[in-house]
Amino acid sequence: MKFCSNCLSPISGKDKRAIALIKKEYFKDDRPWYLGYSGGKDSSALLTLVFNALIEIPVHHKEINIIYCDTGVEIPTVSIYVKNTIAALEIESNKFNLPIKFNIVKPKLDDRYFVKVIGRGYPPPTNIFRWCTDRLRINPVKSIINQQEKSTVLLGVRMGESAERDKTIKKYNTNSKYYLNQGTSTKTKIFSPIVNYSLKDIWSTLKHNAFPSSIDHSIIGQIYKDAGNECPVYKETKGTPCGKGRFGCWTCTVVRKDKSVESMITNGHNSLDELFKFRNWLIEFRDNPKYRCTVRRNGDSGRGPITLTGRKIILDKLLYAQQMSNLKLIEDHEIKRIYQLWKVDINNDKYKEA
Ligand code: SF4
Repeated sequence: MKFCSNCLSPISGKDKRAIALIKKEYFKDDRPWYLGYSGGKDSSALLTLVFNALIEIPVHHKEINIIYCDTGVEIPTVSIYVKNTIAALEIESNKFNLPIKFNIVKPKLDDRYFVKVIGRGYPPPTNIFRWCTDRLRINPVKSIINQQEKSTVLLGVRMGESAERDKTIKKYNTNSKYYLNQGTSTKTKIFSPIVNYSLKDIWSTLKHNAFPSSIDHSIIGQIYKDAGNECPVYKETKGTPCGKGRFGCWTCTVVRKDKSVESMITNGHNSLDELFKFRNWLIEFRDNPKYRCTVRRNGDSGRGPITLTGRKIILDKLLYAQQMSNLKLIEDHEIKRIYQLWKVDINNDKYKEA
């Protein structure tokens, strides 16, 4: 039985096998590795296993890139935790001389949530018109990975996590149970060393591995107190709305009720109260025909973009929530872009206020 030096808790046989698998796969080729990290339990467990595998490897022949996507609408308290963890991980991995690089990526300015909703008048996403996941989460990560001719993407996806995720895993499975296909492309391989981990295994990994000490299972446990999902960091643009979990967008209107932020407020995160009120108001506002154009962007008649009047109301409401919560909810250059887009619509013949 192997013991971790600090906590003297047994590392599970499953973790030992996963670490051995990661080491074996690492040596197989020169393909750069990318790990999609959201700060949630699954990607944290995966990162823990990779970290420990790298500690056991004496000579590293390639880098591992950890990618975190800061959408700009992450739940602020969670995003602060993730960024602090990344900063601590960077120091810890340097201490061990590990070849880990951390990248924080963001969506393109025109793809940001508020630029789309307030600037272009996109209705806040629904299950039917879910324009957000690709633009906010998947594309920024892909744009980094696609710079490589060939790469391996490590994902913390697991069977049994949700029916939707099981379906995705089955759809893309290969003859190796730890690898998934990336559509028809051979450029990117998807490696999921924890695909057969249960929820209990995940928490055990987080709890019983001494390293990296920067990942604190008790903080993650606190964040997950009432359970939640993680947003996909690479694939699966449909599936369960990730806003159900702690690691989704605070603005998520794909779910009707945001139990996640609601229970955080109950647990003392009072600054989120204004955000919660704004999101609930936005759902009602989205469905109000008075603030929707009668012509779509493609010229067809039907419920079109949010009117300019409506967008101004949303911006005012957002700035009010920002002031009241004392949290940065929109960046200045996003507001500047919104004003530019308004000017375009004022002069657009196709654009019609109701
Ligand atoms: S949390 Fe909601 S709004 Fe954000 S990407 Fe996921 S589904 Fe879209």
